[in-house]
Order: sequence, then C-alpha cells, then structure tokens
Amino acid sequence: HFQAACTMSTPQHRIRTLVQTLNRYAHEYYTLDAPSVPDAEYDRLYRELETLEAEYPQFRLPESPTQRVGGAVLDGFETVVHAVPMLSLNNAFSPRDDETGAFGHAEFLAFDERVCKELGVAQVEYAAEPKFDGLAVSLLYQNGILVQAATRGDGTTGENVTENIKTVRNIPLKLHGEKQPALLEVRGEVLMLKADFAALNQRQLEAGQKPFANPRNAAAGSLRQLDSKITAQRKLHFFAYGIAQLSGVERLPESHMEELALLHELGFSLPEGYFGTHTGAAAVLREYERLAEHRPRLPYEIDGMVVKVNSLAEQQQLGFVSRAPRWAIAHKFPAEEALTTVEAIDVQV
Ligand code: NAD
Repeated sequence: HFQAACTMSTPQHRIRTLVQTLNRYAHEYYTLDAPSVPDAEYDRLYRELETLEAEYPQFRLPESPTQRVGGAVLDGFETVVHAVPMLSLNNAFSPRDDETGAFGHAEFLAFDERVCKELGVAQVEYAAEPKFDGLAVSLLYQNGILVQAATRGDGTTGENVTENIKTVRNIPLKLHGEKQPALLEVRGEVLMLKADFAALNQRQLEAGQKPFANPRNAAAGSLRQLDSKITAQRKLHFFAYGIAQLSGVERLPESHMEELALLHELGFSLPEGYFGTHTGAAAVLREYERLAEHRPRLPYEIDGMVVKVNSLAEQQQLGFVSRAPRWAIAHKFPAEEALTTVEAIDVQV
C-alpha cells in the first residue's frame, strides 16, 4: 500500500496527469471553441507542468503542450503549411501585491534583464501594443491582392479560411497605395468587438441557441464556419501586428514600428493610441499601467500587453526558443481580472 501511495504522487505521475488534463483543455479551447475552465486555471496548470519538466526533463512527454503551439486542424478546411511558423509568446504573469494591490512585474523585469545582457546594452528600445484576445491569422498578398488566409493551427499547419476572411470588412482585399509589394504576409488578430459580441449572444439566446463563452470563442467559432455566409453575419474585426514575409519594396522596414507604419499605409487597422515605442523597462511598465487602466473602456478585449524588441536586427540576434521568440513577451494582466470577466459573462448568460 505504501508503495502505491508513493507512486501516485511522483513527479512523473503528476507530469502525466497534467499533460492529459492540459491537452483536453487545449482541445476544448482551440479545436472545439468551447473551453470548460477559465484561462487562469489553464495557465496555472501549464506553469506547474513547465516547472516540473524543467526539474525532471527525463519525464518530459513528446505530447506535452509545452512542446507545441495551439491546436489541431479541423476536418473540412484545407490545410495550409506556413512558410514561416506561427509561434506563441512567452508569458510574464504578474499577480498583484497582496497588501498594496500594486501590479507585479518580476517576470517582465527578468525578461528585460536577459534581453539587455544578451544584446550587451544598458537599455533596450521596446515596442508595446495590446495583447488582443482573439485568434491569430496569416494573410498572404501577391502583387497587392489577398490570395490566402490561414489560422495558426498547430503553428506549422493551419486551416485555409480565405473565403471567411474575405467577409471581414476591415481587411483590404487589395492593398492601398500606388506601389504594391510583390509578396506580403501579414500577421494579426481576428477578434469580435465587445458590443458585437453582446449583440450576437442576444441573438443566440433569442434563437434558443447556446451563447458564446467570450468574444474570443465567438470570433474563433465565427471564423471557422464552413459556410462563409454565417461568418459574414458575425461582425469580425482585424488588427495587424506584424509582417512575416515581404519582398518587392524599395526599402525594407528596420523595426517593428516601421513594419506597423507600412501596414497602416497599405490599409490595415492598428490599435489607435495604444502602440508605440518605450525605452527601458520603467517606461514600458508605465505604459502597462496606462493600458491596464484603459482596458475596461477599450472596445475590444485584451489580456495583457505584448512587448517586443523594436529593432529587427536585435530581434534576429536574440532568435527563438522552441515555441516562442526570445525578443517578445506577453506581460499578462493579473488573473483575478481574468476571473472577473468569466463571472461577468455568467451573469449575462
Ligand atoms: P498566447 O495567447 O498566450 O500568445 C500568443 C498569441 O498572442 C499569438 O498567437 C497571437 O494570436 C496573440 N497576440 C495578440 N496580440 C498580439 C500582438 N500584439 N503581437 C503578437 N501576438 C499577439 O498563446 P497561445 O499559445 O495562443 O495560448 C495560450 C493561452 O490560451 C493561455 O494563456 C490560456 O490562457 C489560453 N488557453 C486556455 C485554455 C482553456 O481551457 N481555458 C486552453 C488552452 C489555452
């Protein structure tokens, strides 16, 4: 009996249980668009798994969610192999100080320290922007024309959602301006505005159908309709946040902000008033606090602030780890606020 009790609590056993649980949650979240637990709970278990795997790498399982990005591809869509993989982001979690209620920044500061050390500089210029709570898509333009749109899928292979993406009104079908790049691959987030989400759930209830858990699931469910007429009725919105491929332009962007400026010229929406550069960690953290304060008033949901090293040369120098760039981090808002969102939705339902 003693033997059995010990086996139950071994790190190896705990790792196996965590992998199984997290994979089930990820399937519900990414593939079925129907999560059964709040994100904060998923994140907590994911963290526990990461810590155990770091301590006991010999027990790491090949099917562990730490080894890959996102979810599987649905049946019914054609698959698209991404020319440049669509990665995830490392997260900096920041529980509030129990006594003062102040934001915690330790994980972001550790990120900044690593970046400074690696680049051999005292301060880094960062670009900061909202972490949109939607789903990542890739848009491919050839000679200015939208020819393909794909979801992230597992990061290597996504779903071909071109017909559905064409119904998103603020995505240009043809790039603006005189000079069109020969090839452009835009990365960004498809989301549903809070007001459109509330209206959609109202309609779902009136029609006797199940409401969506949150705007993110509503956006994912709407984009992954096999009938694009349904997608067209759901008002989706797109924000661009990066360029994966670009050729046939006079001058290539040298920073993240130059990429965003080019995307704006070509007709893409950016989060007006909430993207910019900040030099040094203290300036980044001031922007984080400002964004957190504005969060309830924004027309779209965000769950943190993405901080990226602005210079593309420096990004290249920093490179990637398996599933995320080493030059970017998602500085998440504290979990209690994530839980509040879930409660608010329960009331609405
Ligand atoms: P992530 O959401 O933490 O970060 C990566 C994604 O951020 C990118 O793919 C992109 O879509 C998005 N993003 C938003 N704004 C961006 C910007 N400005 N620049 C770059 N990227 C931006 O990582 P993930 O792997 O997509 O998902 C993990 C998260 O999903 C977890 O933190 C968890 O909360 C949630 N999740 C929840 C459940 C559940 O059961 N509740 C299950 C699985 C995952």
